[in-house]
Amino acid sequence: MVSFKELGLVNTREMFKKAITGGYAIPAFNFNNMEQMQAIIKACAETKSPVILQVSSGARKYANQTLLRYMAQGAVEYAKELGWEHPQIALHLDHGNSFELCKSCVDYGFSSVMIDGSALPYEENIELTKKVVEYAHQYDVTVEAELGVLAGVEDEVQAEESHYTKPEEVIDFATRTGCDSLAISIGTSHGAYKFTPEQCTVDPETGRLVPPPLAFDILDAIMEKLPGFPIVLHGSSSVPQEYVDIINANGGKMPNAVGIPEDQLRKAAKSAVCKINIDSDSRLAFTAAVRKVLAEKPGEFDPRKYCGPARDEMERLYKHKIIEVLGSDGKAE
Ligand SMILES: [Zn+2]
Repeated sequence: MVSFKELGLVNTREMFKKAITGGYAIPAFNFNNMEQMQAIIKACAETKSPVILQVSSGARKYANQTLLRYMAQGAVEYAKELGWEHPQIALHLDHGNSFELCKSCVDYGFSSVMIDGSALPYEENIELTKKVVEYAHQYDVTVEAELGVLAGVEDEVQAEESHYTKPEEVIDFATRTGCDSLAISIGTSHGAYKFTPEQCTVDPETGRLVPPPLAFDILDAIMEKLPGFPIVLHGSSSVPQEYVDIINANGGKMPNAVGIPEDQLRKAAKSAVCKINIDSDSRLAFTAAVRKVLAEKPGEFDPRKYCGPARDEMERLYKHKIIEVLGSDGKAE
């Protein structure tokens, strides 16, 4: 048993409280490798933004849970080395699907876990979430739960169609489970293909797909039921078209990739939405940079020569999100 406190990590309680009062959102960035981790920490240290490092079950399989945990511990030290005096870094399990997995992460030094029972019948979701909350809270680890189903694909998480969160359920759910934050479904979606062309309209000027707007009326109704309660948005990448263009121009093929427009996320960040998950955008930044280098220099075979530019591109992306979209810069001196 290792406490996250020994690792220099923090849970999400204070972060969320300040974010809601301050009208901004905390970035939750997924990481799977060293370059991604370096880019996240550098961006956050330089902008002094609190951050949630997320580990999905796919990342655990890819990079090994032990390695990831030590990387997070290393991230705290790296942040200090970069001159960030009081790093506010949480290590969070993304989409935990069982009590056992959540427990193992709590025991392993995670400061926050998500238990995703959203695919279960309502009462079973409550039962499972409550069990995780009771265990995690003994160690001051915060718990994110989910109500409503997102469409799209994220590692092993898949859903054919979305089911918006029902505002009439949130008080009962939050009270009975004791969860610390709630992921809701209001039209965001996992992956880089969030909407089909049929769901979108076409911008006559650019010819690009414009996705349907998020259901802010549902968010408003939820906030009315649970004033000041931390709300989480998954599947909130914007799928920057400049990255898609670079990928397509350099041998890639990503037709009709489309995400959530940043102005909508900006609006959400000012509300009780205090955690916004961004994963696909970083994958796109990485892939665009790697494809560009390899297309321009076909003889290159040193991974540092293409992973380096990929890391720089991800860092630029993270800073952009922090400063221009979430407003979390300068919130963790
Ligand atoms: Zn998710």
